[in-house]
Amino acid sequence: MKKLEFNDIHTQKKQKKLREMMIKTVSRLAELKNDNPVLDSCPICPSTKIEFFVNAYQFDISSCLDCGLLFCNPYPTKEQINAYYNSEMKSFENEFFRDSFEKRINIFLPRIELIQKYKSHGKLLDVGSAIGIFIEALHRASCSFDLACCDMSEEACRELGERYPDVKILNQDYLDMDVDSQFDVITLWDTIEHIVDSKAMLQKTHHLLKDDGIFVFSTPNTDSFEWICAREKHVQILPPGHVNLMNYKCIDILLRNNSFRIAEAFTLNSSLDISYVKKIIEKNEVDRSAIGNFLWQEVFDPDFERVLEEYLMNKKKAGNIVVVARKM
Ligand SMILES: [Zn+2]
Repeated sequence: MKKLEFNDIHTQKKQKKLREMMIKTVSRLAELKNDNPVLDSCPICPSTKIEFFVNAYQFDISSCLDCGLLFCNPYPTKEQINAYYNSEMKSFENEFFRDSFEKRINIFLPRIELIQKYKSHGKLLDVGSAIGIFIEALHRASCSFDLACCDMSEEACRELGERYPDVKILNQDYLDMDVDSQFDVITLWDTIEHIVDSKAMLQKTHHLLKDDGIFVFSTPNTDSFEWICAREKHVQILPPGHVNLMNYKCIDILLRNNSFRIAEAFTLNSSLDISYVKKIIEKNEVDRSAIGNFLWQEVFDPDFERVLEEYLMNKKKAGNIVVVARKM
């Protein structure tokens, strides 16, 4: 399989129009009153070491200096969030998901293998299915799960219902969902960053998951090559869609505080990080020295040292050259 690159899953059209669409959409949201409190402690860990991180699309983002959580501060109101998801921004997003559908299937195949390590059949609930790329990947991998999908978007649910008549479609807010049975697997792919009340999401998941079930999710990882390089310029800083951006440390605390524990965690597709960082440096979106942010953090790690040592030798980039020459 070809390595996944940033441009494969973020089409040119998306890259060109995202900012413009966001500015248009959020200028309308800013007119809606937000009387949510500005938090002076972290909603996850709960440190009081909170710092302003960036203002993006008229929303302030704070960072927790202890666990690293980046969060909208104040959080957007329900009205702002509803307006956002019912704006043309959502249709635009569904459109670029459609344009990159085939490429995105590849993101899900290793995730399906991971699920199958734990469960090969039973009831699977996918939350925030959007246009169903994961559902399609499950079909292609001939999985034998009994599938249900939950999504707030009417447009997405209509499309899912037409394409997959075998799947139970729940067009509602996950937090309001009430079904009389429990699930073996609950998946939230790149969805938890959209949820203001992470605690309520985990309580709901706890309630809906069988005792031996698995909760599997993905979310942007702010403690990563691409995030440490891009920082406040990262393309995923997209309030009020993305309201909580996390890393391993925040996730671990959040789960433990809500009666879950991490069984395994991975970061896959690092080729996306490399292609994204190259792109933002080439386009001058960040300074070349941004890479230094990451190197400074990693250079003291013995694993990194070993890999770098080998890389420098292989590429003849170590600081002393030994030459063997022969007569011609
Ligand atoms: Zn924190």
